[in-house]
Amino acid sequence: MKKDHYRLAIIGSGPAGFTAAIYAARADLEPLVLEGPQPGGQLTITTEVENFPGFPEGIQGPELMDLFRRQAERFGSEIVSREATGVDFSRRPFTLTVEEKERVLADAVIVATGASARYLGLESELRLRGRGVSACATCDGFFFRGKAIAVVGGGDSAIEEAGFLTKFASKVYLIHRRDQLRASKIMQQRAFDNPKIEIVWNSVVLEVLGENAVEGVRLRDVKSGETRALPIEGFFLAIGHDPNTKIFEGRLDLDKAGYIETRGGTRTSVPGVFAAGDVQDHVYRQAVTAAGSGCMAALDAERFLESEGSPR
Ligand code: NAP
Repeated sequence: MKKDHYRLAIIGSGPAGFTAAIYAARADLEPLVLEGPQPGGQLTITTEVENFPGFPEGIQGPELMDLFRRQAERFGSEIVSREATGVDFSRRPFTLTVEEKERVLADAVIVATGASARYLGLESELRLRGRGVSACATCDGFFFRGKAIAVVGGGDSAIEEAGFLTKFASKVYLIHRRDQLRASKIMQQRAFDNPKIEIVWNSVVLEVLGENAVEGVRLRDVKSGETRALPIEGFFLAIGHDPNTKIFEGRLDLDKAGYIETRGGTRTSVPGVFAAGDVQDHVYRQAVTAAGSGCMAALDAERFLESEGSPR
């Protein structure tokens, strides 16, 4: 980092973080952007993005995020590939700890750390991640042409992903822990109508089978208690997302699912700290809504700094 004290620090580099950086840099705030563990955010693990306005032919997720980054850089954002590992919001200027050792000060902070896909937490699932275990159907579906695969979950995402995967797979098992789907009725109907989708009700995954690649899953029927192996070659998780708010626990007000609570735009419980994107939104969760709230956060931060007379 070039300085030890910034007017504005932005934590996170998805559509929210980079849009905040574009607006803040154009307002001469010379923001610091800490990119975090997944530079570019969740779009960098998707393929085609077809619904981001302005790209009528669609655009690849990583390419879109590269454009965001270059636009933020062009106006003077300082973007560093490092992670904020701690924050002290108890007094101003705020202190950010970067990778446990360095400290940097900021007069205002925008939190745009996003959310991450949830995993079941099995040792076998971790071991086979990237070898047939994935939480991103759009990224990895292509590799399973003509194969049998499984998706875990019963919400809209699970059905959307299962439907998408039927373009490639010969068969998609939708493994759900209950006897009713959580998904909306229209999505449920889509699953019921798709001849390649078979719903495996009342089942939990005990283990992902295979040494170096996924060969199956061991399931337990929660009603009968019986266990069985289901042969598959791809295992997809669609059991929701968790907001990346660990370092903000006890420092910002979070809701019971862990998302940052915002009020009156992007303001958090600490004046001078703003939140944008999926870290404060579990409803819309779109790149374009994240970008929109990143813009709002930059405008809110700019107004805050002006009202506080933050020196340049
Ligand atoms: P969700 O609605 O929270 O559903 C998560 C699913 O995963 C639930 O069925 C849940 O089971 C299951 N699950 C959670 N933890 C589990 C575990 N440890 N083991 C096994 N199963 C587990 O999440 P989502 O599907 O990602 O959707 C999030 C939001 O985005 C929703 O509001 C959804 O409507 C929206 N969305 C909409 C669309 C669309 O309309 N096209 C597409 C995607 C997402 P239980 O049901 O038993 O709790």
